[in-house]
Amino acid sequence: MRLCIISDVHANLPALEAVLDECPRGRIIHAGDVVGYNPHPGEVIELMREKRIASVMGNHDYAVLTGDTSAFNPVAARAIEWTRGVLQEEHLAYLRSLSLELRVEGICCVHGSPAEPLWEYVYPGEGLEEHLQRAGARMLVLGHTHVPFHLRLPQGEVLNPGSVGQPRDGSPLASFAVVEDGEVEVRRVEYEVGRVARDILRAGLPGVLAQRLYSGW
Ligand code: ZN
Repeated sequence: MRLCIISDVHANLPALEAVLDECPRGRIIHAGDVVGYNPHPGEVIELMREKRIASVMGNHDYAVLTGDTSAFNPVAARAIEWTRGVLQEEHLAYLRSLSLELRVEGICCVHGSPAEPLWEYVYPGEGLEEHLQRAGARMLVLGHTHVPFHLRLPQGEVLNPGSVGQPRDGSPLASFAVVEDGEVEVRRVEYEVGRVARDILRAGLPGVLAQRLYSGW
C-alpha cells in the first residue's frame, strides 16, 4: 500500500504543484481546507479534481459555503469573503460534495478531530488515545493545526501531515506525508513562495498572508 497524505492546501497552487511532483504514484488523500487564505482557490479545486484527490471538508471550506465567518479572525474572514466572490458554481459544487470523514485502507481521515471534524485542534499528547478510539481505525489522519506530527500508540497511530499551503511550524517548506508498507515519512518541499505572495497582493488580500508564508507561521 502506498498513500500520499496531504492537508490544508488553502488555495496555494504553486505549493500543491510542488508537492504533487514529489508524491509517489498511488492514492492521494487530503485532510481538508482546500481553500482559504491564499489566492488560487479555483485552480486548486480544478487540480484536486483532475488528480482525483480524495478530500474531507475543512472549516474554511465550510465557511466559504455558508458565508459564516464569525469563528474567524478578520484576516481569515476577509480571505473567505474574497474566495466567495471569485469561485464559480462548479467550484462551490465541489466544496459541497466534500464529506466530514473519509475511510480508506484502515485509515480514518477528518480535518479537526473525530468528535468535532470541523473545529477541534488536536496537538500531539492531547488525548490521542480517545481520538483513536472514537475513530475506530488503525490510523487517524488529521489536519487543521498546520503542524506535522506522527505518533505510534498501542491503539494505533495518529498522523498530521502538516500544511501544503500555509505551514505553521517555522519552516516555509510545503509539508506532506507518504505512507508506504506501514512506514510513515513526513516530507518537506520547496516551492515558489514569491509567486503566491505576488498573487495575494494582486488580489487585494491582506499583506500579512503573504508575509507569513516566507517564515512559516
Ligand atoms: Zn487550515
